[in-house]
Amino acid sequence: MTGTTNLLELNHAELTALLADWGQPRYRADQLRDWLYVKLATDFDEMTNLPATLRARLAAETRISPLELIYEQASRDEQTVKWLFRLADGQTVETVLMLYPEIEGERGERRTVCISTQAGCAMGCVFCATGQAGLARNLTADEIVAQVLVAARAAQDRSAPHHLTNVVVMGMGEPLANYDRTWQALRVITDQDGFNLGARHITVSTVGLVPGIRRMSDEPLQVNLAVSLHAPNDALRSQLAPINDRYPIAEVMAAVRDYTTRTHRRVTFEYALMNGINDMSSLAHELARLLRGLLCHVNLIPLNPVVESPYQPSSPERSAAFQQILQDAGIPTTLRVRRGIDIDAGCGQLRRRVAAPDANS
Ligand code: SAH
Ligand code: SF4
Repeated sequence: MTGTTNLLELNHAELTALLADWGQPRYRADQLRDWLYVKLATDFDEMTNLPATLRARLAAETRISPLELIYEQASRDEQTVKWLFRLADGQTVETVLMLYPEIEGERGERRTVCISTQAGCAMGCVFCATGQAGLARNLTADEIVAQVLVAARAAQDRSAPHHLTNVVVMGMGEPLANYDRTWQALRVITDQDGFNLGARHITVSTVGLVPGIRRMSDEPLQVNLAVSLHAPNDALRSQLAPINDRYPIAEVMAAVRDYTTRTHRRVTFEYALMNGINDMSSLAHELARLLRGLLCHVNLIPLNPVVESPYQPSSPERSAAFQQILQDAGIPTTLRVRRGIDIDAGCGQLRRRVAAPDANS
């Protein structure tokens, strides 16, 4: 055997083909699919309606649990849970489950999981805990899918006997720098013969990798795009997100404009408000001018402060003032309530703390 098959990378057609190769009837693939994506099994031993010989072969030649839980932290109100997982090679990644996030203008209970696509990140945004550590490696597609399944299981336990409602690709890493594996994972979790999450309930967030945004415009999978902007001009944005030197704002905006034209989908701009850095009213006006006429929505998030970083969140007053200017200019804008503030729920923060427990205490 040259290697292990990562079972969670296969859509139902591929799963069926694998079992057909092994001489198994088609219904076995359906049974296996139900164990993986409906009953959310993590161990072949649970799959009691599969013959023991098939279970043994699956255990020997495939893997279904690429994540080892090493740390779990729930917020005081238990509405946010954060996990740190160790991967087979010792790298670690974070996943966050948010129950009932309050999103203005939207109704209904939501169970959203925030997943990682890389161990670390090469983009080096100065306010981001993940960015400080650099990139270790891309995640494999099954490592990405498994995060969704862990959260789906936990959501079942904690709230209700049903599914996650949303997936946001906003954890560690830059998804468009790991494009193929991210999409492979998204194809598995949206597979109508599998986990069957609607693509419109998925949002991919990028720091603004222009070729990736252009590729997204042509994807058959209708996932939503969020762009982490954080500043309305190149001078400031390059200070905060150095990749801006390579893909300056005008190029990002041109790619976003093409994306909205082709897909007719509203783009979200993420803007982490940092006190005295990017939260001045002049910048809100500049942002409004930049976004005028675009099918978009702005998501303001007071910065989650990172240890040893000079950047601090904007006050509620400054945040509200910034929001008001955008709204007055006709740009739909939400001010996101930070969730999980007591559990290091910012990107990459738990990993840093567990790796260096003294740093935060
Ligand atoms: N790399 C992608 C997705 C992961 S980061 C991106 O940058 O979009 C997900 C979001 O968290 C981004 O909008 C990012 O700017 C934001 N973020 C990172 N560190 C943060 C912090 N300390 N406080 C608030 N938002 C942060
Ligand atoms: Fe990477 Fe996103 Fe963090 Fe920037 S904000 S360093 S792109 S994970």
